[in-house]
Amino acid sequence: MDEVKEFINFWDVERHNLPFEIDGIVLKVNSLKQQRQLGYTAKSPRWAMAYKFKAEKVETELQSVSYQVGRTGAITPVANLKPVLLAGTIVKRASLHNEDIIKKLDLHEHDFVYVEKGGEIIPKIVGVNTEKRTEESKEIEYIKHCPECGTELVKVEDQAIHFCPNDLHCPPQVVGRMIHYVSRKALNIDNLGSETIEQLYREKLVENPADFYVLTKEQLLPLERMAEKSAQNIISGIEKSKEIAFEKVLYGIGIKHVGETVAKKLVKNFATIEELKNATVEELCQVEDIGTKIAVSIVDFFANPENILMIERLKSYGVQLIKGESTNEVLSNVLEGKTFLFTGKLSLFTREAAEEMVEKHGGKNISAVSKNLNFLVVGEKAGSKLKKAQDIGTIEILDEQQFLDLVEKQ
Ligand SMILES: [Zn+2]
Repeated sequence: MDEVKEFINFWDVERHNLPFEIDGIVLKVNSLKQQRQLGYTAKSPRWAMAYKFKAEKVETELQSVSYQVGRTGAITPVANLKPVLLAGTIVKRASLHNEDIIKKLDLHEHDFVYVEKGGEIIPKIVGVNTEKRTEESKEIEYIKHCPECGTELVKVEDQAIHFCPNDLHCPPQVVGRMIHYVSRKALNIDNLGSETIEQLYREKLVENPADFYVLTKEQLLPLERMAEKSAQNIISGIEKSKEIAFEKVLYGIGIKHVGETVAKKLVKNFATIEELKNATVEELCQVEDIGTKIAVSIVDFFANPENILMIERLKSYGVQLIKGESTNEVLSNVLEGKTFLFTGKLSLFTREAAEEMVEKHGGKNISAVSKNLNFLVVGEKAGSKLKKAQDIGTIEILDEQQFLDLVEKQ
């Protein structure tokens, strides 16, 4: 053990001369025999153990607190520090995370703070040297308005973070929305990067996703580092995005709480953007997995005339806002007139794929076990639904392979 201690003490100092950062050392038992004797816990070997160096801590002066607005409108307070050397690098800033952290530290203007660099890249403030605090020093007061657009901030209940609610006009949020629109899982316009979008926004050429479709090559060319070829690629990428399916467009327009899965479910139930726009909260809540929070968010989105205008423009440019034919494609009518329900953990296919298969072969999916159900397909660990189906007695129970055989019986 003395040798181990010596090794740790040596590297605790010497690590600062390494060309990379380390935060600890792994100690291992060398003897294979002893390794076998010690064995393993469920997670890791008992013959290897991590030793973490004590995080380095320095004292420095807090110069000011500034606030950053993220692409989702979340506000992050940042401490600007008098530059200080810590673990080999000069530290000038530290994240303060949220108002609660500032309150917990009881941070005052021009306090002397202890800064620590643990495993994270961003250093954090771990305490205040109150002895150095002057009498007139005032408590740090959290901002009430967005530093980017001046809108009054809101704090969601149960959450420590403040948000700027001006999602349609707050610059970082406007840019964030457009970046989301072109992202891979949405409209997938991969030649249009976030830096280009920021430039286009600064030049007042784009403000919302609909503006992409009226961009010209001539407008792109004067941008920094924009070659003829990349400009052409952007224009053709935008053009190609008009073929992207409705569900991805719906995800891309950035309705709060509408992620990829929710967008898919919505498109299954509302074949056009008009149907979705006219849906009430009650109607939306009928859709599987859609609760009040999502439903209200959708209704709010369509209640905003600016969003309606954007949708109308997207439609006029030829973006897909109607459920595509392909998702409804009929492969056979072998399951016609039959109803199906899947339960338990499926291993040969996902539930979504299975339900799609039923539809493509003319069958119908229903959501509960009843006398109207013809087939219950059971995966592993099927529970109450299986029992109920057996009790009813008229329902045919299939395993996954039997279901596939049935489909392929055409
Ligand atoms: Zn704002």
